[in-house]
Amino acid sequence: MTGESTAKVAFCTGCGSMSASCPGCGRTLDPPRFCPTCGRRLTVAVTPGGYRARCREHGDLALD
Ligand SMILES: [Zn+2]
Ligand SMILES: [Zn+2]
Repeated sequence: MTGESTAKVAFCTGCGSMSASCPGCGRTLDPPRFCPTCGRRLTVAVTPGGYRARCREHGDLALD
């Protein structure tokens, strides 16, 4: 039984390094700068409700 329900974060959203080699430099209050899936630099847009981050490959990221 292989569970794929939990998506693993492969890249640090703060610096774009492999998450395994980064202890977690991104603060939760900061908008992500790099896609957690592919490590590309994100396009971050400020919105009235906060911000929105978009990856060229993966589209808008779901942010809390
Ligand atoms: Zn980092
Ligand atoms: Zn991506």
